[in-house]
Amino acid sequence: MTMTAEPRSNMHPASDFVQLDEQWSAHNYHPLPVVLSHGEGAWVTDVAGNRYLDFLAGYSALNFGHRHPALVAAATEQLNRITLTSRAFHHDQFGPFCQELAELTGTEMVLPMNSGAEAVESAIKLARKWAYRVKGVPDGAAEIVVAGENFHGRTTTIVSFSTDESARADFGPFTPGFRVVEHGNAEALRQAITPNTAAVLLEPIQGEAGVLVPTDEYLRTVREICDQAGVLLIADEIQSGLARTGELLALDHAGVRADVYTLGKALGGGILPVSAVVGSRAVLGVLRPGEHGSTFGGNPLACAVGRAVVRLLSTGEFQQRSARLGARLHERLGELVGNGASEVRGRGLWAGVDIAPGGLTGRAASERLAENGVLCKETHGSTLRLAPPLMISEADLDRGVDALGEVLAR
Ligand SMILES: *Cc1c(COP(=O)(O)O)cnc(C)c1O
Repeated sequence: MTMTAEPRSNMHPASDFVQLDEQWSAHNYHPLPVVLSHGEGAWVTDVAGNRYLDFLAGYSALNFGHRHPALVAAATEQLNRITLTSRAFHHDQFGPFCQELAELTGTEMVLPMNSGAEAVESAIKLARKWAYRVKGVPDGAAEIVVAGENFHGRTTTIVSFSTDESARADFGPFTPGFRVVEHGNAEALRQAITPNTAAVLLEPIQGEAGVLVPTDEYLRTVREICDQAGVLLIADEIQSGLARTGELLALDHAGVRADVYTLGKALGGGILPVSAVVGSRAVLGVLRPGEHGSTFGGNPLACAVGRAVVRLLSTGEFQQRSARLGARLHERLGELVGNGASEVRGRGLWAGVDIAPGGLTGRAASERLAENGVLCKETHGSTLRLAPPLMISEADLDRGVDALGEVLAR
């Protein structure tokens, strides 16, 4: 693509589309004022023909970039065969997808769902049933320990254990059965565990909270605590997994295995929602027909795209790219500390950049970055979250960091 792409829509200026959204959609988001109409690789184009580097990548849903040819080909081929059967019948993409995803992740069973929140809900149900049927927890007493500042999705049960007031306020009554402990504090976690604890549910790296990376030692200690207490470790790798951090799974950096993982976002290749719970037969094996389900979960189109995603990840190429370019990203972002940034965290092609006190708000910085041709989004007011597609070129990565440096230095 060239820098002078033809305007996609001369008829409607961007403001018309923003106005439509304002008038006709619920206001549960506050998007940047760009109206996108095209995407290819790490680049997107707006309705006026302006091009931007996508440094958010759909919060990691676009790990392989926009319209990766192998993923589009898999989707197109499946569109021409069969797209939906419901789970009332078998289909020829389901078993292969489950086998291939289990083999990729080193797990024994797969429960396909659609959105990330559904995968987390499914993992909660699995952990509770496992607690009653395998561990012997008295009926209705199972507890799950979670970390403060978590983000696991938006359902009523999941926001029940959020510590973000804006995610919870006015949405009660809340689902009981959760204990929140400080993220990164192993001793607090140990003390929260009781004989009725079914599971510990954690993001190995907290994305929404600002890309908070705990020590590997903490994650290893959590595993030991879970083993000693006979408690499941559930890793929510919906955002951190599938090569984002330079390993297939973020927990791999610490050499830790979870009993259950939730996967989503990139599992759908940026094409459609695909999520899954993957884990041990001892846990996923507790479900019987009729106890859980989803009309769209594991549909043929989703499985065909998911299989193509697994193929891309099976070579290790994206993991290596993320590790190599991530090292460059963090080296370059480190130079911004003291030059408009107060702290930078992250792993692989994933970073949280805290804007120095007295500088721009996160929103203003995101808007200025967009004006400079780079898209990302703030989280928690003054942190910018960077997650470029893993196929990004080194030159484009540098271009994005240069633009960020200019915006923060003002
Ligand atoms: C995005 C996300 C979810 C929720 O996924 P949805 O597809 O938006 O429901 C859950 N957990 C983590 C860690 C996430 O980043």
